[in-house]
Amino acid sequence: MNITPPSSPASTLNPGLEPPAVIAPQLASLFADRAARFERLAAGHAAGDWLSFLARLTQVQHELLQRHPVVPLPDAAALEQARRHAMPPLPANGWARDAVWQRHLAILVDRLLPAAPPVLQSTLTTLAALPPAELERLADAVLRTEYDPAQAARLPFIAAALQVYWTWMAVQPALADLARLDVPGVCPCCGSLPVASVIQSGQYAGARYLHCSLCNTEWNLVRVNCSACGETDKVSYRVLEGEAGQHELVRAEVCDDCHSYLKIVHRDKDAAADPVADDLATLALDILVDEAGYVRSGPNPLFVPGEA
Ligand SMILES: [Zn+2]
Ligand SMILES: [Zn+2]
Repeated sequence: MNITPPSSPASTLNPGLEPPAVIAPQLASLFADRAARFERLAAGHAAGDWLSFLARLTQVQHELLQRHPVVPLPDAAALEQARRHAMPPLPANGWARDAVWQRHLAILVDRLLPAAPPVLQSTLTTLAALPPAELERLADAVLRTEYDPAQAARLPFIAAALQVYWTWMAVQPALADLARLDVPGVCPCCGSLPVASVIQSGQYAGARYLHCSLCNTEWNLVRVNCSACGETDKVSYRVLEGEAGQHELVRAEVCDDCHSYLKIVHRDKDAAADPVADDLATLALDILVDEAGYVRSGPNPLFVPGEA
């Protein structure tokens, strides 16, 4: 473990280029890039088989998103009302879900089953046989981040199907130009918690965004600022030590005010780094920070801890 000093908030920003408040996900590349990232991280990793399986799952998410049917979106009045009250227009809790997500789930199960590890085969088979009402109940639990350890094996697949549905909605033109909410720690599109924050590369290099754990929208938040409580003075960083030195690509931003943490993924150091994949490849960092007494402030629903 090492404590590194906070980096300067604006020193690496391009002068004169104001980063947008909200960045919508890239429909064509988001899940394909994530799948490639999982595959790359799997090589030589102690949990390589699992990361490879997640690469296949994410590739199916990509295919589902590319041929997503048109489903209902909020109408103009609902969008205007959300804007006026600074509320997310596609709230994870409250949006009347289209049944399309259950179709996504069925296809995910179908595609993953043949090559799934034996331990997951019965999970997938059981999921495929659940009645729609039970699937909706599990979806409610995922969207409220009420993760029942007894359902730990099933919930990531429910989440993966919901991610496709919400990401499709988030990229539609009707949802463009979202404003920042009054609450900086939740997604301005769907109100979910962030999976991690990312330091951007390219055009907005150095700017920090939170990345939605459900719809993959990113929203701007100044650096060295606890995304859970807004504290700036009691924020510090933890990194993993490896044989090749410190793992600077993924750090944990810990807050000694609210005792929470969230990871920061540095795309500025590797543009292929992904907040979902790199998070799951660095669970050792979670263990280290958990043991130091910090509680993670945002979920990664592709991994739900089971019963001990
Ligand atoms: Zn979202
Ligand atoms: Zn805090």
